[in-house]
Amino acid sequence: MRPHREAPPTAGLPGAWSDWSPWATSAVLRPQGIDHGLVVSSGTAAFVIALLALRTLSARRYVVVPAYTCPLVAIAIAHCGLLVRVCDTRPGHFDLDPAALAAACDKDTLAVVPTHLGGRPANVRRALACARAVGAWVIEDAAQAWGAKVDGEPVGLIGDIGFFSLAIGKGITLFEGGLLVARDPALREQLDSTARDILPGRWGLEVWRVMQLAAYTALYRPWSLRWMYGLPRRRAIARGNWIAAIGDDFPLTVSMHRVSRWRRRVGERAAARWDSYDTAVRQQAQTRVARIEQLPGAHVIGNQTGEEGPWPFFLVHLTDPQARDAILAELATSPYGISRLFIHALADYVYLRPIIDPADAVPNARAFAASTFTITNSLWLDDAAFEVVLATMGRVLRGFTTTPGAPIAGR
Ligand SMILES: *Cc1c(COP(=O)(O)O)cnc(C)c1O
Repeated sequence: MRPHREAPPTAGLPGAWSDWSPWATSAVLRPQGIDHGLVVSSGTAAFVIALLALRTLSARRYVVVPAYTCPLVAIAIAHCGLLVRVCDTRPGHFDLDPAALAAACDKDTLAVVPTHLGGRPANVRRALACARAVGAWVIEDAAQAWGAKVDGEPVGLIGDIGFFSLAIGKGITLFEGGLLVARDPALREQLDSTARDILPGRWGLEVWRVMQLAAYTALYRPWSLRWMYGLPRRRAIARGNWIAAIGDDFPLTVSMHRVSRWRRRVGERAAARWDSYDTAVRQQAQTRVARIEQLPGAHVIGNQTGEEGPWPFFLVHLTDPQARDAILAELATSPYGISRLFIHALADYVYLRPIIDPADAVPNARAFAASTFTITNSLWLDDAAFEVVLATMGRVLRGFTTTPGAPIAGR
C-alpha cells in the first residue's frame, strides 16, 4: 500500500457515482437466490420488525442469541420488551453450542437466532431442530453474510425469517439499511403489515441519510479513510478504549423509519456490481487464508462442507490469547485493516448490564472474544502490505510456540 493510505477493516463494496443514476433500474437489492425482501432503516430495525411480528403470534418472552454477537441484537430484543437469553458458543467458534442451545430452549422461547459472522454460515438446521422441539421460530442473523449459501440454499431463507445489514462495511450499503426476508408467504405478510404499522416516514432523517450515503461514496477511499477512520481509531486505542475504537458502543435505542425509493435505487445498482466484486474478494481470500493457516497456532474460521459466502475479513483464532494481544500490540494501529469483531461476549459489556445478566456462564464465548482478531480482506490491502502482516504475525507467534522440549519464549 502506498504511504498515507488506510485499508478499511472489511471488504464492503466501495460506493460508485454510477449507482446514483436517477433512472429506474431492473436490478434488485437482494442476495442471489432470494426473490423478495423488505428494505428498512437498518439490520437492527429489520430484526425488531421480525420480533414484533412474532410477538403478535405468541406470548413467549425469551429470544436465544449466541453469547458472542453484535450488541445491537441484544438492544433490539430489549427494545421489543422481550428478554435476552444468551447461549454459549462452540469451543473455538462463534456458532451456538448444541448442548447449550438445547438447555437454553424451553416453552417460553419465542425465537432462536443463529448468527452468520464474517460471511461464514452458522448451523441453521441444528437451530431449527432445537427451536421446533419447543415450538419456537428461527430468525437468522445474516447481517454479515450477504450472498452466503449452504448446500446451494441462501442463508436468510433456511430458517423462518432472516435479515441482512446494509450498514457501511457489511457488503452492500445504503449507509444504514436492512433487508428482511422470510420463507413462508404468510409470515412474510405478517412482517409486511408489522412494518407498515410501525415504520414512520421520517423524511428529515432520510435526507440526512442520503447526504451520508453521498459522503460515503466520495470518501470511502484509502486516502480519506486514514483521516475519517484510521486517526480517531488510533487515538481510541492509545487511550485503551477498544470499544470506542471499533464502534462497539451503541445507543440503547433503535432508529426505525422508512427508506426512500431514491436510496433504495442506489442500493439496487450497487447490488448489480456485487457479483464481480465478490468473485475477486473470494479469490483473494482463497490464497490468503491458506497463508495465515501456515502460521503456528493460527486458525481462520472457515467453511464446512457445502458452505460458501463472502469474505469481508478473516476471523483469526489463536490457541493462545496472549499471542492475540501481542499481535494486536504490534498491528492494531497499523493502516493494514487489523481489528476485532466484537470486543466482548455480550455479558461483559458494562453498558448492556440493564439487559444482560453478567453472571451468565459463557466460557467459550469469553475465550473466543479474547483469542480472536480480524484481518481485512479489502482489495485495497495489497500483497506487499499483507506480507508485512504475515511476517509480523509469524515473528510474534514463533515466540509463543511451545514445541515439545523447547523453552517457552515470549512470556
Ligand atoms: C451489524 C450487525 C447487526 C445490526 O445491523 P445494523 O444494520 O448495523 O443495524 C446485527 N447483527 C450482526 C451480527 C451485525 O454484525
